[in-house]
Amino acid sequence: MTDAHSAPKPSDDVHEWFGLSYGTHAVLPRVLMQSMPAAWQQQFVALMVQFEDAFDHVEQPSAYSVQAASQHLVNELLPDQLNSIGYTVDERDYDQMPEGLSVRAIAEWEDDHPTHYYDADGNEVDGSSYVYVPAPDPLPSYSRGRTYIEPRLSGCAHCPDGHAAPTSRPWGVYVADERDGDGQPTYLRVGPSDGAHVAQSDADWLWQLIRDSEQLQANARRWSAVSDTIERAYRKGYDVDPHELRDQLGDLWQGGDE
Ligand SMILES: [Zn+2]
Repeated sequence: MTDAHSAPKPSDDVHEWFGLSYGTHAVLPRVLMQSMPAAWQQQFVALMVQFEDAFDHVEQPSAYSVQAASQHLVNELLPDQLNSIGYTVDERDYDQMPEGLSVRAIAEWEDDHPTHYYDADGNEVDGSSYVYVPAPDPLPSYSRGRTYIEPRLSGCAHCPDGHAAPTSRPWGVYVADERDGDGQPTYLRVGPSDGAHVAQSDADWLWQLIRDSEQLQANARRWSAVSDTIERAYRKGYDVDPHELRDQLGDLWQGGDE
């Protein structure tokens, strides 16, 4: 038998990763794990092998049964739903409640006549405890390792301390070899000119730069139209029409609306 208290726990990291949940196990879908980048999979497998070796001497269940489910408070479910998972309900019978009670007296009567819930083994359970109702699993089959679901990665699996900031590297761009049906190039290839690897965060950064520059150009066109309007009015000795300025500035307009 294992001594569970022979040494202090080395870290709270795993405990904190579980957060406030009462989960006793981590369940990770195989179809998603096999979709992670190669470097992540290598690290994961190495850690799993290490973990299995470390507790090889500890008796554990030979298997677990995992079922997709939704989690509910017992007292949120209808009797039919509870019956479907083997629970029984001994419902508060409002026909027994005396008539003409005040709101406060009704609350007291309800406290004295609680609804009782029993699990599949006949043990009474608290109405505010959690229960799992089997549900369809929205994930596809791992299909012998073939299914791939594209992950959205903000970090970089190669760089445990964080992927280098894109602005810390030189970037190059050229017209790529791909051609459309008319023989015209259709792609630009962008990459660090020092040969460093890239991550999704680099693509996000570049996309943001393109959108920002489109926004800057649109803003510049608006300011140019505004300055034309002001100049035209000045030459003709007119007052500038604020409504016209506001229309030209669009969402850049910061003045109070009337
Ligand atoms: Zn990286």
